Amino acid sequence: SDVLLSVRGLKKYFPIKSGLTKKTVGYIKAVDGLNFDIKSGKTFGLVGESGCGKSTTGRTLLRLLEPTEGEVIFNGENILTYDRARLRQLRTEMQIIFQDPYSSLNSRMTVGEIVGEALLEHGMVKSKKELHERVVSIIEKCGLSGYHMKRYPHEFSGGQRQRICIARALALRPKFVVCDEAVSALDVSIQSHVINLLKTLQDDMNLTYLFISHDLGIVKYISDNIGVMYLGRIAEMAEKNALFDHPMHPYTQALLSAIPKSHPLDKKEHIILQGDMPSPANPPSGCGFHTRCPKAMAICSREIPVFNAVGENHYCACHLYNP
Ligand code: SF4
Ligand code: MG
Repeated sequence: SDVLLSVRGLKKYFPIKSGLTKKTVGYIKAVDGLNFDIKSGKTFGLVGESGCGKSTTGRTLLRLLEPTEGEVIFNGENILTYDRARLRQLRTEMQIIFQDPYSSLNSRMTVGEIVGEALLEHGMVKSKKELHERVVSIIEKCGLSGYHMKRYPHEFSGGQRQRICIARALALRPKFVVCDEAVSALDVSIQSHVINLLKTLQDDMNLTYLFISHDLGIVKYISDNIGVMYLGRIAEMAEKNALFDHPMHPYTQALLSAIPKSHPLDKKEHIILQGDMPSPANPPSGCGFHTRCPKAMAICSREIPVFNAVGENHYCACHLYNP
């Protein structure tokens, strides 16, 4: 139905410069041709091992990094064509929440100043009173209170600091928020509180999320649709239940098999992957996963598998399913 954000052929290559001549001698292909849609009010989970390109994807589609190629259609417009003025306006509609609530908050500013800063910068409030009301309203929505306004970040726990980061991101009432490992730095006991807060805020404020995490359990809990990323590409993408009940890609199958069994009669075998993910500076030919895939065939090192439909809203890039 109503798609808020579409990514088409998105690539982000970082040039590798020779130390001596400063000439470009190669590229790190951090994001290498992504296609996905995110529906309004829904959560798209992007999951994969560290270094697979998840964070680069999040930053590139907000244009915090300039993409090498592709399109990002937001509200029906390709934002990669936007000039500085339009981009600045876009900042009020697209926001990001980072992993580390310790380093991303200015320790010299009070919570009220941190959360109100962007409202002032974008001229979204007409008076001090309105500023105060907007800030109190959003920090209360995020589970803090007006009484915290004059406090400094160091006076808060990790979970509370992440609530401050969320309040700061949502103060402008954005439509779309990238959550990049937003709960990964928190104690496990705190993670569920913050995730539930994100879910409540999503319903209240009609937010659309790109939820980036290496943790499949967390992604499963919060997402409507999921993309499994490996070496800069999406290996498999599906609605959450289809992905967990019928994983098709050997990489997804291996990731899921590593989640602890929920039932003693669960006969799921633990698939152990050999070696590490190869470097995106020197990716394998053909299917990027062929060096570790238990089902690899001769064709896999020669040809890049096409991202094919394997079910309703279910896509997989693997030669096993290529007619
Ligand atoms: Fe494995 Fe080949 Fe499929 Fe890649 S294309 S996941 S190597 S079977
Ligand atoms: Mg990352």
